[in-house]
Amino acid sequence: MGLFEASIAAAFYFAAYMSLLRLLIYPRNWCASAPSTLLTTGGLVVALVTFVSVSSQGVDVTLMCISAAFVVVLFTIISAPAIDFLPGNDRPAIQFLAGHGAYAGLWMLPVAVAAGYAASDPKLLGALAAAMVIEVLWYVRHRPTGARRPYILNDQDVSVLKTQAKGDIGRFAKRHGIGELDMSGDDVRWQGCSKDTLPCAFNLYTNRLGLNTAPCCREHLKDICLYVCACLSDMKVAHWLEGGSLLGAVREHGALLAWEDDIDISAVLEDGQDWASLAKELTERCQRDGYYVDLFVDKSLIAISFDPPRPWPFRWERSRMRGEIRVDLAVYRHAVSQDVAVLERISPKGAFPKTESGWYGVPKDVVLPTSRIEFLGKELSCPNRPDDYLRRLYGDYNKVEFTYIDPVAAETRQSADADVTVNGADSASS
Ligand SMILES: [Zn+2]
Repeated sequence: MGLFEASIAAAFYFAAYMSLLRLLIYPRNWCASAPSTLLTTGGLVVALVTFVSVSSQGVDVTLMCISAAFVVVLFTIISAPAIDFLPGNDRPAIQFLAGHGAYAGLWMLPVAVAAGYAASDPKLLGALAAAMVIEVLWYVRHRPTGARRPYILNDQDVSVLKTQAKGDIGRFAKRHGIGELDMSGDDVRWQGCSKDTLPCAFNLYTNRLGLNTAPCCREHLKDICLYVCACLSDMKVAHWLEGGSLLGAVREHGALLAWEDDIDISAVLEDGQDWASLAKELTERCQRDGYYVDLFVDKSLIAISFDPPRPWPFRWERSRMRGEIRVDLAVYRHAVSQDVAVLERISPKGAFPKTESGWYGVPKDVVLPTSRIEFLGKELSCPNRPDDYLRRLYGDYNKVEFTYIDPVAAETRQSADADVTVNGADSASS
């Protein structure tokens, strides 16, 4: 009887944990959580606590408090890396937990042992055991074992790093836990990520600390950008570089923005094409070629990640990682708004105005037929009038703005970039 009850409690915990991982996809994509996922996760936690603390003898308040407190603390630890993706810089506890996210769950091990020993209730023991087995497995699979390839940081990367570190790179690296930095030689090196290692804590480094995108991550962004564009061309889907990627192609002469954190591509479905078949074919191709796909049907968004696809249930644990190399593929549709043929998307982008249907749009002739532009060493598809498109998105796009970077880091960056420009001009004239 005890074992049976323990197994049910363990199953409840596992279900709540899986639901939480699904929920964490939303803050990682900077969007509001789907109410259904939020309700499911909350409901499963309540069900678990109720199952553990209610019996034919009534409600055991001690068991209720222990199980509820344990789950809330552990779920906060698990959620910290994803919550840390959200803009804003005033969450020291979350930042601390996120920084130790690869093993922080194990800190609950002595708590679980003490609580299990004190209460010695089979249902509570079942839930605690399930939680700790999951945490140990997470740690074992994600402890840093994969070989990292060293990259030498270029002058501009080092200059920005030095500015953000106020001259003391060693102390800065230690303070923010930048484990990839290697200062042992003459050059500043970066121990790069790969498909076999944890990703660099991208979000922290570029958005929060205002550093340049790490060279390994830049390489993977290029890889996945060219891959997705080739797939879409192959599938005869009209697509174009979007947002920051298009900005890089035009303003940075075909390079990524120095602080780029994702690749933006957009596509539009023509007659005879539909969302379901696009999503299905792209998912199959990506799985086969070693990329991971997340579908956001209600946002008409396909996120393609550099991570290798993992079998269920482990793939959802990507939500616990601190960075990811990703292409955001937004799918537009044809429409007519105020008698003008437009392409419209469901989620806002830059300054695109609202269309009659309440989506966000751009005149069709600005985009189609698509043109070609050099980006990351290849000729890729871009809007018919890229300059016009960027102006509609960003206004005066030649003015450099660090829109998604923490304001303090952005301010420091601005002065660093000004210095680089001045030094560059000096060396060019000498
Ligand atoms: Zn990296």
